[in-house]
Order: sequence, then C-alpha cells, then structure tokens
Amino acid sequence: VPPLALAADWSTWFYRALVLLVISCPCALVISTPVSIVSALAAAARKGVLIKGGARLEQLASVRCVAFDKTGTLTKGRLHVPRLVAFSGHTTEEVLRAAAALEGRSEHPIGLAIVRKAALENVTVPAVTGFQAIPGLGAEGIVERREVLVGNRRLLEQRGLQSAEFTASDSEFSTRGWTPIFVAVDGVPIGALAVVDEPREAAAESLQMLRALGIQKIAMLTGDHAAAAGAVAASLGIDDVRADLLPGDKAAAVTQLRAKYGTLAMVGDGVNDAPALATADVGIAMGVAGSAAALETADVALMADELPKVTYAIRLSRATARNIRANIAFSIALKAAFLVMAVSGLATLWMA
Ligand code: ADP
Ligand code: MG
Repeated sequence: VPPLALAADWSTWFYRALVLLVISCPCALVISTPVSIVSALAAAARKGVLIKGGARLEQLASVRCVAFDKTGTLTKGRLHVPRLVAFSGHTTEEVLRAAAALEGRSEHPIGLAIVRKAALENVTVPAVTGFQAIPGLGAEGIVERREVLVGNRRLLEQRGLQSAEFTASDSEFSTRGWTPIFVAVDGVPIGALAVVDEPREAAAESLQMLRALGIQKIAMLTGDHAAAAGAVAASLGIDDVRADLLPGDKAAAVTQLRAKYGTLAMVGDGVNDAPALATADVGIAMGVAGSAAALETADVALMADELPKVTYAIRLSRATARNIRANIAFSIALKAAFLVMAVSGLATLWMA
C-alpha cells in the first residue's frame, strides 16, 4: 500500500511486507493448545489416570460439583458380615448356603463379602443355574432346584414378600448403620445378613482437598438405604446424600445436580454406575478392575483404586487450562509487538 498510495520506496516496503508475512504465520498460536493438552494427557497416564481426550480434560477444569457413589468408591468395597440371622424354621447355614451360591456369580462387593463369609464358616456352596443380577436390588437364580432371591428390602417387597421377622431385622440392622440383605427361597424369606463397609482411609482427606480447590458441592449417590448412607456421609462430612437410588435414579440425580450447580463430575466404581457416569459431564471410573461397562462409559479411568487421583485430575486440568491461556496470550502479544516493529521497519526477516 505505501508505494502505491504514498509513492514510498518499493524495495523497503516489499521487505517489510515479507517480515509481516513470516510473523503472521500462526505457528506459536497453533501449537500452544495441543502441546499443553498432550503433555497433560501423558503426565496423567504416567500416574495411572487415563483421560479420554482433550475435550474431557477441558471440561474437568470447569467442574463445580462432584458426585460420588458410596459402595466401593467412598468406602473400601471390602465389606464384612457382622450378623447372620435365620428366620423361624430355618438354620443360619441354610441361609448362608443359598446366599453364597448365588453371590458366587455376582460382581457386586456385597456378593464377595457373602462368599468370603461362607468360606470362613466352612459352608459348602452348591451350584447355581439361571443366575441373574438385578442392578441396584440384588440377584436371583436356581439353587438345588429352588428359586433363590437375595437382595434388599425393596427387592423382596417388589416380589410381594413380607414377614414380621423380616421387618424386625430390617430395622435392627438399619439403626446400627448396617445394610440388611435378605434371602428368600421359593417365595419365603428364610433369613437375613447384615453387611457393613468402612470409608477408605483417604476419603476424608480427598474430600477436603476437593473443597480446598473451591469445589463446595460434594454429593453422595447410593443404592444403599438411608441409614447406612447417613453413617458414611456423617463421618466424611457430606451434606447432600441421596439414598435408595436404582441405577436409573442415579442418572436422574446427576441431571438434577447439573442443572443446579453446573459442570458435574461423577465418580463411581463401576458396578451399577454406568448410567450415572454417562450422564455426568465428566464420568470418572475408579479401579479399572471394576466393570467393563463403566470403563466404556467413563471419560476418565483411574487405574488404581485411589480417591486422591480425582483431585489430581482436576488440579492437572486446571493447570493445563492456565497453561493454554498463558501460551495464547504470550504468542498474541509477541505477534502484536512484531507487527508494530515490522511496520516501523525495526524488525528484520531474520528476527521474524
Ligand atoms: P451403591 O450405590 O452403594 O454402590 P448399588 O447400587 O450397587 O449400591 O446397590 C444398591 C443396593 O442393592 C445394595 O445396597 C444392596 O442392598 C442391593 N444389592 C445390589 N447388588 C446386590 C447383590 N449382588 N446381593 C445383594 N444385594 C445387592
Ligand atoms: Mg458402587
């Protein structure tokens, strides 16, 4: 423009135009984002945190609310059986045999606890056919040609099963903060087991670290009943507790929390949590040994069963976002400075 409009010197202005052309190639601008993201993904993977892409990482940085599953996530998922009762006309061995037969096929932590209890008591466990897990409720199958049902109160009530003893052990276990599991054979409740779990050692500290990051809303979503959920929540200082949720209800609760608080991360151990993990902005699956379905639906997978990795992932994502902003600001500022220098003739091609 200057030579044509102002009759300025052609060779000077042609040179300056070339300097401008070199500088305006957006290499620094283009590279600032992917380099940061790839570094973050690689650093996370080295620590056993697998993040499925840059978009997930970016969303993680804007998380305002974190919802946790209880069993196997906030708690160790290594339950034990503090009490075993048989209803009148039955023996505790019968109850344990039937329950352990079924639970041998279950991938739920409650199932593992019952199987361990049977081994501890030297109960011989018969085979099971037609096993079927009922997500969030229990399991059923055929043991020694009889129909066995193992699960929570809701499951038995759904099948129209009731008894006075059943109600009595339900309230006794609940007041102690235990989770009652009932066993029914051929449509008759024959006994009940209490299972109980303890919070992970790192749980309280991890939640504190999350709060320190400015994430004030922490919720617990569980399929367990309210008394057992309340006991765990109280020991960890979680105020938003939603109990008695079926897997579908957990997804609905996630939608509700998202609408209220904004970007939400759901942390689950996988068993029964797939719908909620898929609904959340960022689904974080703990312990990849958990379940294949959870791995499929999650955006972030933690190779080890470690809660502090959740905080690490959020801190890393924020650091990455800060890095990207700094890179972009720096490259734009540098280009702006060069633009001025190029037009005023201070910059050379070599500098550009
Ligand atoms: P959480 O949200 O605490 O991880 P789940 O949704 O997996 O719990 O299960 C909810 C409830 O369903 C359990 O507390 C238990 O009462 C019952 N349940 C689920 N699976 C089983 C099983 N395999 N055997 C007995 N009860 C079960
Ligand atoms: Mg769970």
